[in-house]
Amino acid sequence: MGIMTINNKKETTFDAIVIGSGISGGYAAMELCTKGYKTLVLERGRMVKHGDYPTANMDPWELPNQNKVPHDEAEEHYFKQNRLNWWVNQDNKHWINKDDEYPYDEVNRFDWIRGHHVGGRSIMWGKHCYRWSDIDFEANAKEGVGVDWPIRYKDIEAWYDYVETFVGVSGQKEGLKQVPDGVFLPPFELNCAEQHFREEVAKVYPERVVTPGRVANLTKYDPKIHKGLRGQCQNRNRCWRGCPFGASFSSLSSTIPVAEETGNLTIRANSIVSEIVYDENSKKASGVKIKDSETGKEIEFFARIIFCNASTVGTTAILLNSRSERFPNGLGNDSGELGHNIMDHHYGMGVSALMPGFEDTYYKGRKPLGFYIPRFTNIDEKTKKKEYRRGFGYQGGISRVRNIPGNAIGEDLKDSIFKPGPYRLGMTCFGEMLPYHENKMYLNFDKKDKNGMPIITFDAKLRENEMKLREDGIKCAIEMLEAAGCEDIQSYNNLTAPGACIHEMGTARMGRDPKSSVLNKWNQIHGVSNIFVTDGACMTSSGTQNPSITYMALTARAVDFAHKQMIKGVL
Ligand SMILES: Cc1cc2nc3c(=O)[nH]c(=O)nc-3n(C[C@H](O)[C@H](O)[C@H](O)COP(=O)(O)OP(=O)(O)OC[C@H]3O[C@@H](n4cnc5c(N)ncnc54)[C@H](O)[C@@H]3O)c2cc1C
Ligand code: SF4
Repeated sequence: MGIMTINNKKETTFDAIVIGSGISGGYAAMELCTKGYKTLVLERGRMVKHGDYPTANMDPWELPNQNKVPHDEAEEHYFKQNRLNWWVNQDNKHWINKDDEYPYDEVNRFDWIRGHHVGGRSIMWGKHCYRWSDIDFEANAKEGVGVDWPIRYKDIEAWYDYVETFVGVSGQKEGLKQVPDGVFLPPFELNCAEQHFREEVAKVYPERVVTPGRVANLTKYDPKIHKGLRGQCQNRNRCWRGCPFGASFSSLSSTIPVAEETGNLTIRANSIVSEIVYDENSKKASGVKIKDSETGKEIEFFARIIFCNASTVGTTAILLNSRSERFPNGLGNDSGELGHNIMDHHYGMGVSALMPGFEDTYYKGRKPLGFYIPRFTNIDEKTKKKEYRRGFGYQGGISRVRNIPGNAIGEDLKDSIFKPGPYRLGMTCFGEMLPYHENKMYLNFDKKDKNGMPIITFDAKLRENEMKLREDGIKCAIEMLEAAGCEDIQSYNNLTAPGACIHEMGTARMGRDPKSSVLNKWNQIHGVSNIFVTDGACMTSSGTQNPSITYMALTARAVDFAHKQMIKGVL
């Protein structure tokens, strides 16, 4: 699409605008297009099409430096995002922004891991999908923490069914109230050692369930749903590079192609949305302003409804930058909560150990995940903890360690690689973080980036509840390894900064009262009915579950609501 001028209003007017093309933006675009709305997706990053995955088929020996980014390059370009020394590698660095080109400031350290391109982080996400339950939706109200969620599980249950059916989530039903079962494709089975772990843990701790991870990798192809666009998972375990088979759910493989097929979609890459324009007369948004990052031109686009899906931080930055007489502190910020209550999950704590008894066994393939242990503390009176609120879950796996003597070479090396080695278990604890008003992001209007956008500043940290929860997370993990007969048990507790778990959320929270929240129960900005925020910014608490499937369910629900409002002529 060519450059459009502000004067050419017909070409710059759409039914709907979606800001961002990542997990939630792709979903919003598909739902809007299939309902017949001419939809413009504005994406600040470069164009990427399904299949443009430069490292997807590279073998380990084809990646320089054993896949590591050289020290100098990491220091120059990834000095914030690679502080943990694992997020940026040769096979994925093209999906991650360079810190020197996309600066942000920190009062307290915040690891903001992200990439600007069509597809957003849907290309490299880990695809773990777990439903929330009323234990999560009711927690704030019961404990007097933050504000009450304006929805309950019954409000979103059918939307989980709806998105899981399309996304394709593999998993095993367990009947747990804290992580409800969903519409599952066949699970990736636990390997023999993982199955043993599940059984031994259950004997001692029946409430701790080791289940196959629930992931958005197609284990079964359904021609009616996937319509030749996606294929079955090949067990290659390279999903974060982009999946050429489309087995892994992403905007590129899944939602954008369906939106495109309708003929209603326009995607405009290299389009940095700087602000949403508020019309004082209609008391609605009239559209958005963008800067074309290639030409430097500023263009205004117009639409009846706007979906904000630029990610938790991206969306909130746009809203804070959208100042008018009516909203001098940022669009929709009557409550003063915009930018506050930022949350993430916290990790960097976990265990590893040898699992004896399987030295003569093999398994086939490279399944792209291991097991999940859903939260089991503070579920009910029996599991209540005095020391802290909420809980934690674990992600882990057990695999055969290669049995290679240090100096083996040639035939010796080959021989030893094919000999089964011991099995080693590793599992990481993911803890819930509470919403604190003091944890925030804001804009520094005195300091601009190369595109003229005020610099984002983070000021958030983990607090007492998180610290206590971490200690118990490790203690409970060790108990399980001991129950399963593990040897050489090692544990670690290396505090991570918020952001590092890449589940940032909460900066434009949903709530019942416009005085204390930014969005209502339909993800609409209180007081500006034609703007919907359905990325992680909307979250009122963080739960322990990976959140993206919930963003998708809320997005589909909000589009359905907007559609009905438009039919009625309310929007
Ligand atoms: C390595 C990794 C593993 C992960 N694993 C999991 C997991 O297992 N399960 C899970 O639930 N989540 C996981 N996540 C998190 C998940 O990727 C995010 O929750 C999800 O992508 C958020 O979706 P989104 O639509 O809000 O944002 P994104 O997918 O980040 O997309 C936002 C898009 O908006 C664009 N944008 C930003 N600002 C602007 C602007 N001003 N104008 C125009 N466009 C803009 C961005 O360029 C981007 O393309 C993982 C993330 C990573 C990186
Ligand atoms: S393991 Fe499956 S989902 Fe992942 S890249 Fe390979 S085929 Fe795709």
